Amino acid sequence: MNDLQKRTWAEISLPNIRHNYEAIRRSLPEGCRFLGVVKADAYGHGAIAVSRLLQEAGADYLAVSCLDEAMELRENGIRMPILILGHTPPAYTGTLIENGITQTVSALAKAREYAEAAAALGKTLRIHIKLDTGMSRLGYLCAGNYFETGVENLLRTVALPNLEPEGIYTHFAVSDEPGEDCETYTRAQFKLFTDVIDAVESRSGRRFAIRHCANSGAVVSYPEMTLDMVRPGLLLYGYGDTSGRLGLKPCMRLVTTVSTIKFYEPGTSVSYGRRFVTERRTRMGVIAIGYADGLPRLISNKCSFAAKGGFAPQRGSICMDMCMIDLTELPEADVGSEVELFGPANDIYKLSDAAQTIPYELLCAVSKRVPRVYAE
Ligand SMILES: *Cc1c(COP(=O)(O)O)cnc(C)c1O
Repeated sequence: MNDLQKRTWAEISLPNIRHNYEAIRRSLPEGCRFLGVVKADAYGHGAIAVSRLLQEAGADYLAVSCLDEAMELRENGIRMPILILGHTPPAYTGTLIENGITQTVSALAKAREYAEAAAALGKTLRIHIKLDTGMSRLGYLCAGNYFETGVENLLRTVALPNLEPEGIYTHFAVSDEPGEDCETYTRAQFKLFTDVIDAVESRSGRRFAIRHCANSGAVVSYPEMTLDMVRPGLLLYGYGDTSGRLGLKPCMRLVTTVSTIKFYEPGTSVSYGRRFVTERRTRMGVIAIGYADGLPRLISNKCSFAAKGGFAPQRGSICMDMCMIDLTELPEADVGSEVELFGPANDIYKLSDAAQTIPYELLCAVSKRVPRVYAE
């Protein structure tokens, strides 16, 4: 970042990410592998920087969403195994193989296409097979009446030439939510997952080297489900209701600065739509962050940010590049002073609740206009 600009930036603490990695690692049974989920630019923290750290720290695997994300890492010196969680068109099978990227396979028809493409190249594609045990998203159907067809399709998949099924995995729908219903559902997903694996392994006579299902919620709440590898994302960045149990630390601090300050008489309307009207003589600051930076417009008039000396209520509709905050009670806050949107002084959950969303969405929303500044 150009130091002179000091507009808006995201401070990323690499030591905190390292701390979180090590704390999660310590909580795992011996021999359990660690896959760090770095999709969506590592939840906004910067996939290259986070992946370099994880590679150096000794993590076993990375996961991204798509081929472009995987290639960005390969082009920036990341040599460790990378799993693509989403779909890659089989036309790119050669790119996957050449770059040593592991592809998720979520249906027999796709497995056949990848196998054909790999055979045409005379090569083998490393895959992880994904089961749908109740998320109803990607994966071989195997719940309820689908158990038998699911197992049969998996047996056909592992028998295909030119594919190397290194791993098998599934994804939980409610492992991060409290309550008996959620626990029952998660345990049923886990049981189905292991039942299908048992059936496929016993009938095919082969074993999957890496069975994995534990996302952030399960890593903390269901330690018996870690199997051969865990797959945390949010937890690595220090968020989630359960992150406190492992003593994890949030890793991003979103900061902006006060651009200007003016005094308004009572009865003055503020911003687009005139949705806020001053009730008293008001010292109003303009801060250099708007929805184009990732601040949701939905939280207009609904939250406060940490300014110098205390919390400043946000006033009026959030604009594309700026918004207004009431600094009447905070005389120390001046032009150029910092305002924390979320971070150690202003819990991200305050904002995500006001925006009727989850921290994931706020972290991913921090746009590319916002420079990431790394604290070593
Ligand atoms: C995003 C994702 C994860 C990580 O989820 P967290 O809740 O952030 O831990 C793990 N597995 C899959 C398949 C995912 O898509």
